[in-house]
Amino acid sequence: MSDTKQSPGAYSGFEAQPIGGRWRTGRSTRSQTDTNPFNGETLVEIPLASVQDVDDAYESAGAVQKAWAATAPAERALVLHNVVRLFDARREEIISWLIREAGSTRLKAIIEWESARAITLEAASFPYRAAGRILTSDIAGKENRIYRRPLGVIGIISPWNFPLHLTQRSLAPALALGNAVVVKPASDTPVSGGLLLAKIFEEAGLPSGVLNVTVGAGSEIGDHFVEHPLPRLISFTGSTAVGRGIGRIAMGGTHIKRVALELGGNSPFVVLDDADVDLAVRTAVFGRFLHQGQICMSINRIIVDDSLHDTFVERFVEHVRGLKTGDPNDIKTAVGPIINASQLHGIVDRIEQAKRDGARMMVGGEPDGQLLPPHVFTDVSPDNVLAREESFGPVVPILRARNEDDALLLANATDYGLSSAVFTDDLERGVRFAQAVEAGMTHVNDTPLIDEAHAAFGGEKNSGIGRFGGEWIIDEFTSTHWISVQHTPRAYPF
Ligand code: NAD
Repeated sequence: MSDTKQSPGAYSGFEAQPIGGRWRTGRSTRSQTDTNPFNGETLVEIPLASVQDVDDAYESAGAVQKAWAATAPAERALVLHNVVRLFDARREEIISWLIREAGSTRLKAIIEWESARAITLEAASFPYRAAGRILTSDIAGKENRIYRRPLGVIGIISPWNFPLHLTQRSLAPALALGNAVVVKPASDTPVSGGLLLAKIFEEAGLPSGVLNVTVGAGSEIGDHFVEHPLPRLISFTGSTAVGRGIGRIAMGGTHIKRVALELGGNSPFVVLDDADVDLAVRTAVFGRFLHQGQICMSINRIIVDDSLHDTFVERFVEHVRGLKTGDPNDIKTAVGPIINASQLHGIVDRIEQAKRDGARMMVGGEPDGQLLPPHVFTDVSPDNVLAREESFGPVVPILRARNEDDALLLANATDYGLSSAVFTDDLERGVRFAQAVEAGMTHVNDTPLIDEAHAAFGGEKNSGIGRFGGEWIIDEFTSTHWISVQHTPRAYPF
């Protein structure tokens, strides 16, 4: 914890968890060593939460939620604005946790800090934007009112790759809209995915008990966290495999509840025959290798028109060979460590499988600790493992498309549909192509790595259900209640 210890007033006490209005130690018999994936340094040892802790956290949230929802919009907005001020005041402390705990390069940590700050600022407007409606009626003398209410208690489960932002993009809107929350961060990032935000919200003036964090093993508390009768919605961001199980429990269990599922991706990056190759190359390098490719929106397949394919490959390979792999704290580093040994082994296995399936490695290299240098493959068939599966690592296949129609077929040849991109000199051609892509998000002449706090973020197909951002998340995290008022007596037929 070298960096934060030097900073006076840095938050501490991450061995404990905010449950039931106070910071206390988890009561599982297991504990979690939180380590730096770059150098193995122990950051904190956390006794994990038990099933009983999850019950306490939900009950605490349930007990205080109505009082929180009854606060004036200005009061909730003020807490969110205070959080933004603390993000600014503690910028380096937050960025430092993202580097040391999540293996973020300094550049990625800055981008993540900016994204989490932006969603907090956006959420500060939600207390005033969650509005009901008055509707007309075909029944004489009737007034139809649609009230909008907080859902109540929301459970948030977040992943390790963008831990601060992906917790905060559920947490800030949920609280702004008058909900109380229990967060279960990923085991690799308990601080930046939950405990750090709890410290910030506490300092910002959030009443105690409204935000609880349970750091626990998925195998011990996961099902209980989802099955618990109190949460009305589970906001899950993570893999499709785990999300599918969560959806099954949430919608097929004893207590039917809503789910917002933000799952895996297999983003295509399409370069049409009239594209600016150099711009496409620079964009593709950033869109694949930021955070070692460990982003749901990362380019998973580059699809290039036959006429530009060889030029693109040559320039792309040259650019990638110049990327620095190493210490994530060094601003010049493009590729930092993979989050843990098991993820690294999975990526290495996929690389070996790709070679066996006939792909040609243009750039590669051996792992060094948890560092894996960038890998680029050509001669990749659509059924190669690198084209079919989400790599979630610094590995990219380049596929050759015969023409625009073929490029579209290749782009859509996946069960996922999160983000995507198309490059062309003709913007309207780009928009026509984008409209035919089966995805929740498509960017013309830009990277697929875009998340704006006021825009609709989300996926189609196996990439999930629901949308984040702006009015879309207001809909997700509130319920509507139709109340009709009969002003004049009705004449019933019998
Ligand atoms: P993961 O599914 O393994 O874990 C996500 C979270 O679920 C973690 O907090 C984990 O502890 C928890 N979890 C695991 N098993 C559980 C269970 N049985 N019950 C309850 N919770 C359980 O995903 P990951 O490895 O942390 O993240 C990588 C994946 O997330 C990739 O597939 C990536 O594409 C996806 N992702 C999607 C988005 C998006 O917005 N669509 C964003 C980031 C990551």
